[in-house]
Amino acid sequence: MESAIIIRYCEIHLKGKNRGYFEKLLKENIKKSIKDINCVFTAMHSRYLIEGFSDEDFPVIEERLKKIAGIHTYSRALVVDSDFEQIFSAASILCKDKQGTFKVVTNRADKNFTPNSMQTSMELGGRLLEIYGDNLKVDVKNPSFCVYVDIREDGKTFVYNETVHCMSGMPVGSAGKGLLLISGGIDSPVAGYMMCKRGMKIDCLHFHSFPYTGEAAKEKVVELSRKVAEYNGGINLYVVLFTHIQEEIHKNCPEEFMITLMRRFMMRIAEKLARSTGNQAIITGESLGQVASQTIESITSSNSVVSMPVLRPLIAFDKIDIIEISKKIDTYETSILPYEDCCTVFLPKFPAIKPNLEKVIKAESNLDVEGLIDEAMKNIEIINL
Ligand code: ATP
Ligand code: MG
Repeated sequence: MESAIIIRYCEIHLKGKNRGYFEKLLKENIKKSIKDINCVFTAMHSRYLIEGFSDEDFPVIEERLKKIAGIHTYSRALVVDSDFEQIFSAASILCKDKQGTFKVVTNRADKNFTPNSMQTSMELGGRLLEIYGDNLKVDVKNPSFCVYVDIREDGKTFVYNETVHCMSGMPVGSAGKGLLLISGGIDSPVAGYMMCKRGMKIDCLHFHSFPYTGEAAKEKVVELSRKVAEYNGGINLYVVLFTHIQEEIHKNCPEEFMITLMRRFMMRIAEKLARSTGNQAIITGESLGQVASQTIESITSSNSVVSMPVLRPLIAFDKIDIIEISKKIDTYETSILPYEDCCTVFLPKFPAIKPNLEKVIKAESNLDVEGLIDEAMKNIEIINL
C-alpha cells in the first residue's frame, strides 16, 4: 500500500494577504532539506505532501522535518482510492497491533463520497471491532488512539493515526537576518535556535582568544554552530581574533571593567560585521541577572555603543529552561565540554556588577577603540557550515 507524509503548518494560517509568501518560503525550505532523497514533493491546499520515499528514508525525512521552522505537525498516512473497502483495509493495517480504546474520525472533502463522514466513522468502527474486538473497544470521548480518515477531493484517501509535533514557528528567511554572537556556552546556541524558530535567518560570530584559548575551544564553537545550522539551512560562522583587544584592555584599564569593556568591543565589531553582511540585528544569549555582565546596568553599557536592534530571546528565561531546550536541540553535551572561553581569560576577581557608564567611558578613553576594531575586522575567518 502507498504511503505519504502529510505536513501541516500553523501560524501561517493567521497571515492575511501575505500568506502566499510564507507558504512559498516554507515549501522551498522543505524541498531544499530533502533534495538528496528520492521522493515526490507536492504543495496542496494548506499542507504539503511527500510521497514515493522508501521505508529506509522515512526516519531520515522525519528528522529533517523536525528541524524546519514553520512546520507544525506531520503524519505518515496510508494512501488508498476513496473506496470504502480500501479505506477499511488501510484502517485495519493501522489497528493490527493496537490495544485499548479508539475512535474513527472522518473528514470528507469530497462531498460525493458516500456514506457521509459520521456514517463512514461508524461503519469503519464497527468493522474494525468485528476483527479486533478482543483487543480494542470504541471510546469516542477519551480514546487511547484515533483512526483519521481524510477523504480528499481527488479520489484519494489518507488513513493515519499519528500526528507528530514539530518545532512550529515561522519559516526561516521570513523574518530578516540576524548575527548571533556565539560563545561555547549553553545559552547562545539556544538563542540562535529560538530566532530561527521565529523565521530569522542567522549568521554566527565568535570571538576567539588564541593562544589563550586553543583549537579545541574553537572546534567546540564550530560544532555548536553546525547544530544550529541544521535549523537554519546552513550557516556562515565568522571568527574574529579578540586577543589583542583583551590584552590592551587588561594593560590600560581598571580590572573591574574588563568584562564590561570587552562586551562593548564585541558589540561594536558585531554591528560593523552585521552591516557589511546584510544582517539587520545582533542576537545574544543574555538572560537578565544570570551573571555580572547581564545586569540591566551591564546591558545598558554594552547596548549603548550600537544603534542596531539587539535581540535577546532568552532575556526572561531561567537557566533550567534554557538547559531543557539545549538538550532538546542536542547542543547541551557539546556546550558543557570544559574548554576555556575568551571571557574567562583575564577574568577579574571582582567584576563591576553595576558598571557606571561614565566611569566605563572614561576607562575606555585610554584605548584606541577605532584602531583596535579596524585591526580585528581585518582578521576575520569565515567558515561555511
Ligand atoms: P553563553 O552560555 O551563551 O556562553 P553565558 O551565560 O556564558 O552565555 P556570557 O559569557 O556573559 O554569558 O555571554 C553573554 C553572551 O555574549 C553570550 O550568550 C553570547 O551571545 C555573547 N558571547 C560571550 N562570549 C562570546 C564569544 N567568545 N564570542 C561571541 N559571543 C560571545
Ligand atoms: Mg559564555
